[in-house]
Amino acid sequence: MKLFQLTLITLLSYSISSNDTLNIDLLDLYKDLHQNPELSYKEFKTSKKLSLILKDLGYEVTDGVGGNGVVALLKNGEGKTVMLRADMDGLPVKEKTGASYASKTKTLNDDGQEVFTMHACGHDVHMTVLIGTAQYLIQNKSDWSGTLMLNLQPAEEVSGGARNMIKDGLFTRFPRPDFNLALHVSSGMEAGKVGYLPGWAMANVDAVDITVKGVGGHGAYPHTTKDPIVLSAQIINQLQTIVSRQIAPTDPAVVTVGSIHGGTKHNVIPNEVKLQLTLRSYTDEVRNKTISEIKRIVRGTAISAGLPEELYPVVEIKDEYTPAVFNHPELVEKLRISFEKSLGKDNAVKVSPVMGGEDFGMYGRVEPIIPTALFWLGAVNKNVYQKAIRDDIVLPSLHSDLFLPDAEPTIETGVKAMTGAALDLFNGS
Ligand SMILES: [Zn+2]
Ligand SMILES: [Zn+2]
Repeated sequence: MKLFQLTLITLLSYSISSNDTLNIDLLDLYKDLHQNPELSYKEFKTSKKLSLILKDLGYEVTDGVGGNGVVALLKNGEGKTVMLRADMDGLPVKEKTGASYASKTKTLNDDGQEVFTMHACGHDVHMTVLIGTAQYLIQNKSDWSGTLMLNLQPAEEVSGGARNMIKDGLFTRFPRPDFNLALHVSSGMEAGKVGYLPGWAMANVDAVDITVKGVGGHGAYPHTTKDPIVLSAQIINQLQTIVSRQIAPTDPAVVTVGSIHGGTKHNVIPNEVKLQLTLRSYTDEVRNKTISEIKRIVRGTAISAGLPEELYPVVEIKDEYTPAVFNHPELVEKLRISFEKSLGKDNAVKVSPVMGGEDFGMYGRVEPIIPTALFWLGAVNKNVYQKAIRDDIVLPSLHSDLFLPDAEPTIETGVKAMTGAALDLFNGS
C-alpha cells in the first residue's frame, strides 16, 4: 500500500518537494524520452539526460561505460549488490500511433540516410521505470541496505551494448552484483500485470550472410554457366531440413531466410546471389549444430553442382550475436513471491518462452555466473487488450510502428514491481 501511494505521488508530482528532494514526474519524463528516440550507439542526449537526473537524485554516476552506457551507484551499507538494467536505444521506424506525444524525430543512420526514429521496443518505458525505482530507493534508504547499481545500457537493438559494457569493466570497475534484473515491456499482456518465466526465456539470435557463387552467362545458354539462382533455390529448400530433420523436435530452433538478392535482368545468369538468414535457438549445442548444418548444406550443394572449390558459397556469421536469456530459476521464484506481494496474485503471470532476442542474457554468462532474470511488463491498455481477445484481433507487436504502451498504468506497475523486487532482494526475503 505504501508503495502504491508513493508511486502515484511520483507520477503526479512536478517539482522539488518540501524536503528539498527532487521529485520527477515520470509521465513527463516518459513523454520526453518517447519524443526523442536515438538510434543504437547514438544515445548521446538520452544518456546525458538520465545521467544528470541520477546525479541530481544523489547517485554516484559514471558516464561513458562501454560507449554511451551510464552506471549509477548507491552504496547504502552492508548487504547484497543488485543491478537493475534499462536499455536506451530506439529504432529506425516512423511512428504511426497517432499519440499526441508521438515521435517526429529524424536522424541519419549509419549509411547517412535520413530516417525517422521511434521507441518501438518500449525502451522509453524501461528507462522511466528505472528512474522511478531510483527515486524511490534513494528517498527510502532506511528501508533497505546494500548497494544499488543502475545500468543504463546503449545499443541493445544491435546487440553490442551489454558486450561493450562488460568489456569496459562493468563487473570489475564497479561492485560485482549478486543479482542482475531487468524488465521488458510486453505487447501481448495488459498493463497492470507482469510475466515471469524460469529457465530459457529468450533465444540466441544469429545473423548469417551467405554468398552463393556461380559462373554467370546468357540465360539462353544455361549449360555454359553454373547458375547461382538455381543453387540458391536448392540451398533454401535444404535449409528447411535443419529444424525438421537435424534438430531434436524437443529443442526449439528457427532458420529463416529473410532476404535473397541476385541478378539484374531476365536473360542474364548472374555470378552470385546473396542470402540473409536469422537463426534462433536456446542452447549453445543447438546453435552450434544449426551453424554447422548450414555450412555442410551449402558446401554439399556446391559440390553436387560441380563448382570448383574457389566458388563454394561463403558463409559469414555476423558478430552481432545475441546470446539467449536464461532466467535463473531460484531468482525467478524470489521475483514471483515479490510480484504477488506488490501487485497481487492475479497480476503475476507465468508466461511462455519466445524466440525473440535480448542482449541482457550476456550479463548472466560472465563467470562466475551471477543469477540473472528478465521479466515482462504488460503494456497494453486493458480495454484494447480485452477487445482484442474478444474479437480475435492481433495486437501491434514490439517494433511495430503502431506499438504504443498504455503509459501510466504500465510505468506505475513497472516501478512497483521493480522497487518491490529490489527491496526483497536487499532484505533477503
Ligand atoms: Zn527491440
Ligand atoms: Zn527491446
